[in-house]
Amino acid sequence: MSLYPSYPPNLTAEQLSYLITSFTDYSLSHGLIVRPAPTFIPTNPSNSLATPAPVTLWPSPFPRTHFEEARSLQQFCNLLYARVSSDRSWLGDLSTSLSLVDDFISKLWAIHTRLKSENGYHHKYSLGLFRSDYMVHTSESEFAPLGIRQVEFNTIASSFGALASKVSELHRYLWRSGAYPPTAEYINDLSLPRNEAIERLAEGLAKAHEIYIQDVAPDAKYTLETAASVGPNSSYGIMFVIQDGERNAFDQRWLEYHLTQKYGIRVFRVTFEDIRKYTHHVRPKYELLFVPPHAFDGRKQQVYEISVVYYRTGYGPDDYAGQEDWNTRYFLEESRAIKCPTVLTQLAGSKKVQQVLAEKKNLERFIGNERGEEGIAERIFETFAAIYPMDESEAGLKARKLAFEEPHRFVLKPQREGGGNNIYKDKIPEFLRGLEEEKWQGYILMELIRPPEVENLVMRNGEMMQGKVVGELGVYGTVVWKDAEDGEPGDIDILYNEEAGVLLRTKGSSSEEGGVAAGFGCVDSCVLV
Ligand code: ADP
Ligand code: MG
Ligand code: MG
Repeated sequence: MSLYPSYPPNLTAEQLSYLITSFTDYSLSHGLIVRPAPTFIPTNPSNSLATPAPVTLWPSPFPRTHFEEARSLQQFCNLLYARVSSDRSWLGDLSTSLSLVDDFISKLWAIHTRLKSENGYHHKYSLGLFRSDYMVHTSESEFAPLGIRQVEFNTIASSFGALASKVSELHRYLWRSGAYPPTAEYINDLSLPRNEAIERLAEGLAKAHEIYIQDVAPDAKYTLETAASVGPNSSYGIMFVIQDGERNAFDQRWLEYHLTQKYGIRVFRVTFEDIRKYTHHVRPKYELLFVPPHAFDGRKQQVYEISVVYYRTGYGPDDYAGQEDWNTRYFLEESRAIKCPTVLTQLAGSKKVQQVLAEKKNLERFIGNERGEEGIAERIFETFAAIYPMDESEAGLKARKLAFEEPHRFVLKPQREGGGNNIYKDKIPEFLRGLEEEKWQGYILMELIRPPEVENLVMRNGEMMQGKVVGELGVYGTVVWKDAEDGEPGDIDILYNEEAGVLLRTKGSSSEEGGVAAGFGCVDSCVLV
């Protein structure tokens, strides 16, 4: 049953054809695009072909109160995860036990321990570009929205912010241009919220760049206000660490264009391999220096000091081709550039941390104890679904029983990112039986959220699909903090903390995963109801 039965409106064949033409042309003209999959277009000469990103034809209805609640919590979620990242002994206990059963976590944690025992950290500040993902949860019997429940919290490579901003603008344009009927239920100027994720995410990166320069080179007098005029000649730049052959490159490019055009900041897109070829450290301060291979002869400044290392790769084992790539991650971690994220912040975003925070006393260790945070732990806690460990604790033993007796209520998650890694419902028992029991503790068991179904149309590779869909709302957050080495969670110094726009991802209601890049879902925008 759809929660909004008369949505979207029915159109005649002529009206639908007009809408699709307007939709496609807008997407292509505004860079709402991705590189096509090789299975779709086998050859792509000079990488010159692109296709509209998978997007819904209509904005999907989303309850306004839940939308506002998710956004209003974001600055506190930023604070929570900045504090978790900085609490090295707390994070260390979790990471050490996970390291025993999870090779990927073990390698990440080893970067931290090696750094501590060798030359130590050289950066002072950290940048988080986070995304907290939620679904609206409904009651089983009445199908009424109960509230938002957090699906997960991303601390590395949170993507689709730029495309999501553009989808909001696209849907608004379709309304303004008359491609949507004037009588369309719910849609009006006030129900289509502005989404400034591009601007806000770019601002977060620019802010970290400004803080870096003011700290290491106060004479440079770089500020965001004067940046556009001063920037391009400066000898500092931001590094985007990317995957080879990235199809979602334009989502990243839009952040780069904003950084360059609004803030005058140079951006370098590099793979781990490029970093080995074109960068080096200068000791004792560990400046990260980059010599671009494309620099023009005769230019004065061919060496750039990297202010911020922004990862759009590195979140999963496949991103590291071999030990060399792990060494490169170590090399970057050791530098004095601001990392987005550090290895510790990446670990703070693991599913295990989410599970542990879902126990209230653990959450309260990190949030709610300072002035201005009254009642916040309760509000954040309200958004948590039940999550259990799969270890040998009391709760873990209960979860192991539930996983076999009532698997249809749960999703089993490993410590992985990027979609396509979870095990759902009735597949859980068989999966666990096939895995050595001592490895079970590397997983968490999470209660399934029941999002409301709505009707929509999805355009993917020029084809239209119609049907029942469910949405997942992501709220972006940007935060810059100064670490308090081995201090209390509340000790860190927050220099910048903002909510940074939203993403609505939509998938067919019968599909278990909603990853856009993984090929399951599409980008949407909210029409608030
Ligand atoms: P990843 O880090 O790989 O994105 P997620 O925890 O976000 O992992 O899970 C991937 C997808 O699985 C989500 O986008 C959502 O569609 C679905 N999913 C995850 N957890 C739940 C849940 N508790 N209830 C319903 N669907 C879920
Ligand atoms: Mg994730
Ligand atoms: Mg996810």
